[in-house]
Amino acid sequence: MSYDVVIAGGGFGGLYAARRLERRLPRHSARIVLVSDVNFLLYTPLLPGAAAGSLEPRHVVVPLREELDWTDIRLGRLTGADPARDEVYVQTVDGRAETLHYDQLIVTPGSVSRVLPVPGLAEHGLGFKTLADAIALRNRALLNLEIAESLPDDAARREYLSFVFVGAGYAGLEGIAELQDYVADVIDRYPRCRMIGSRFVLVEARERVMPEVPASLAEFATRELRGRGMEIRTGTTLESAEADSVTLSNGERIPTRLLCWTAGVMPAPVVAELGLPLGPGGRIEVDATMRVAGTSNVWAIGDAAAVPDPAQHRRAPSPPTCQHAIRQGRRVAENVAATLAGRSPKPFRYRTLGVFVDMGQHKAVATILGLRLRGFPAWFAARTYHLAMMPGLARQVRLAVDWTVGLLFGRASAELGQLGHPAALDEPGKRAA
Ligand SMILES: Cc1cc2nc3c(=O)[nH]c(=O)nc-3n(C[C@H](O)[C@H](O)[C@H](O)COP(=O)(O)OP(=O)(O)OC[C@H]3O[C@@H](n4cnc5c(N)ncnc54)[C@H](O)[C@@H]3O)c2cc1C
Repeated sequence: MSYDVVIAGGGFGGLYAARRLERRLPRHSARIVLVSDVNFLLYTPLLPGAAAGSLEPRHVVVPLREELDWTDIRLGRLTGADPARDEVYVQTVDGRAETLHYDQLIVTPGSVSRVLPVPGLAEHGLGFKTLADAIALRNRALLNLEIAESLPDDAARREYLSFVFVGAGYAGLEGIAELQDYVADVIDRYPRCRMIGSRFVLVEARERVMPEVPASLAEFATRELRGRGMEIRTGTTLESAEADSVTLSNGERIPTRLLCWTAGVMPAPVVAELGLPLGPGGRIEVDATMRVAGTSNVWAIGDAAAVPDPAQHRRAPSPPTCQHAIRQGRRVAENVAATLAGRSPKPFRYRTLGVFVDMGQHKAVATILGLRLRGFPAWFAARTYHLAMMPGLARQVRLAVDWTVGLLFGRASAELGQLGHPAALDEPGKRAA
């Protein structure tokens, strides 16, 4: 008998689950189908590098077909499921509706930016979660420099040279630090902008930045970034956003043309359409083996699932990190294989090995196996770690080359917002541009 194993989501959890299943299940015994809306895994820890132009966008993704041997990859969007009928529903990229039957289902569609109902935020804010977000951020920063350079007065120029990030978890902090590093790198090519310089403001609702690392390292990061001229407002929230400014809860109005929102994530919207029990924060409720509560053949992992964290008191949900998603992916594959063979699944066990927060300018903070590093050693450890974790030798070499070229020759300042949006054939004027 051949079993149908469906994996919904091709990110960290999905790819690592599929890879392990390919090794555990004899090929004739199962059909593994992986459904994903993109045909690559986005290596998010390197996203700030792509936004800051130190890495080529293509070099921070892992094409699924290059990493999987016999998994049937279906490019499409999961739209719903009926656990009572063992079916999931998919809309393919060419618009067809497909129904897939499963004997075992692994749900791992990850998370999306959690947008709060702040007036003007959805209209004027940029996210920082996808590759498109990272490229849009870089292009917007460059476009702002181009516009600022052409403006007649300094007040208007300042507006375009002010960058505001809201949310100081590692995504926000790395994002703003890398972008500041990038702007500092290219601003010399804009003489009028260079005269007045740029302004970077990081806004955080909690009393400290980066809850993911110990307080002493967060303080070091805060000091380091303030030393570079960055303004950090803790205990402060975004009250409203307009096209040319933001207003904070302390009453401050900051003229700006770039607002980036990095204040947390929530499960991918499809999670609410799957007929599965949801726990706190809308994550799917699972037991310690990652099996969904009340089901016998549905498993959920990664950012979308509330997998009890063995490292935390009272088994709070695992933090939304790729370290956890990778280990959950491998463990859930073992559990699915065990279940198909009539054996019992085992609980997820993992203790975070470390956390790296890259702050650009060859500095980072890190905790590795209880050791705390900061400055250059932490930065070097972070790069070495990501180089080792990136799947595939060719991709590792590309990363190393990008970093080396950036160090030796600086970064490119071409604004490529037109990529992916070609003008129609009957618009020759636009095509010539
Ligand atoms: C900027 C940034 C930096 C980060 N840095 C770190 C870091 O340094 N260290 C760390 O440990 N973690 C980091 N993270 C967190 C990490 O990226 C996530 O925890 C991890 O990706 C979760 O894995 P996942 O498999 O649950 O989801 P993902 O890796 O996001 O994969 C989900 C996949 O499912 C797809 N999908 C979603 N909905 C559907 C649908 N309806 N149909 C089909 N496919 C769908 C998505 O497109 C995606 O490909 C960072 C995140 C961000 C945004």
